[in-house]
Amino acid sequence: MTKTLFSRIIDGEIPGDFVYRDDRIVAIRDIAPKAPTHILIIPIKPVSGIDTATAEDQALLGDLLLVGARLARDLGLEAKGYRLVINVGDDGGQSVPHLHVHLLGGRALAWPPG
Ligand code: AMP
Repeated sequence: MTKTLFSRIIDGEIPGDFVYRDDRIVAIRDIAPKAPTHILIIPIKPVSGIDTATAEDQALLGDLLLVGARLARDLGLEAKGYRLVINVGDDGGQSVPHLHVHLLGGRALAWPPG
């Protein structure tokens, strides 16, 4: 099976700016940030998206959000707020078929998104 872009970054084949790593989850800075802080929280397991996650991934999904909240705290985003986002499919704007949560902060974010 062809490796996803994020699996290649996790495996060190492509450079990534890592801000977090444990045995199941990594977080890297987005290469094209849409906010002053833009981090991707990624499971090492290459689940293609939230739409293909299963009950087996339940704890992992919770941990992705908890890591996002912890990073937001560590990066000083908590006081003013931030956003955790999962894009799904074409209309959702998903471009990489490897589940990831975007952590966006450091400026006021529009709602609804454009
Ligand atoms: P999505 O569009 O939700 O699938 O998000 C994919 C994100 O990956 C986008 O925000 C891209 O800017 C980001 N991205 C693409 N290539 C890289 C890379 N090599 N390193 C870090 N982030 C990347």
